[in-house]
Amino acid sequence: MDGKIENIQDAGLSAQFVMDGLDIMVENPKCELQFRTPFELLVAVVLSAQCTDKRVNQVTSELFKTHSTPEAFVNISQEELEEKIHSCGFFHNKAKAIKSASRDIIERFDGKVPSNFDDLTTLAGVGRKTANVVMAEAFGGDNFAVDTHVLRVSNRLGLAHFQDPNKVEQQLCSIFPKETWSKLHYQMVLFGRYCCKAMKPECERCVFNCSCPSSRI
Ligand code: SF4
Repeated sequence: MDGKIENIQDAGLSAQFVMDGLDIMVENPKCELQFRTPFELLVAVVLSAQCTDKRVNQVTSELFKTHSTPEAFVNISQEELEEKIHSCGFFHNKAKAIKSASRDIIERFDGKVPSNFDDLTTLAGVGRKTANVVMAEAFGGDNFAVDTHVLRVSNRLGLAHFQDPNKVEQQLCSIFPKETWSKLHYQMVLFGRYCCKAMKPECERCVFNCSCPSSRI
């Protein structure tokens, strides 16, 4: 153990301690993706897999000028869509997912993005993370989306000990009060993006550096 605390909860640190720390580190948590409708958000979240929000916003600022409805994405050819979203990476699968989800939304949900989690996850290309983000951001739900940043931060802080995002989601939901889930999601995303970075975490300026089991100082 090297005198290190293995688990932030074992150390007697409460969920409140983590929430207070994140309130200091990330004062104004918010979604950095730009969108005007639940459907645009859905498209943006699909595009954001393995891609930065900045890049997605660059792409969607042009894309949404001409394509912002499920009908528009059903009617655009796979090739043309791939070309438009090329710089987001994984463009073939992302274009396929967006077109399939658009078709599903038209055929099964009357052209509207469903506002409940279970229906959202029946859409092609929409997994738990995407559904959780859409529920929280577009419909004001209490949801804890686990992306790569939330996964990393949770494990580094000792809040979770899994690499499976579904298990981490379960764990986080069991630790924190429901009404805090959406806010904590964004705080962990931004904290992971700008401080507890994958390659070089900035532990020297982190409020958790005295108790974090992964601290490098
Ligand atoms: S102390 Fe370092 S590893 Fe731990 S949460 Fe802070 S930045 Fe991340």
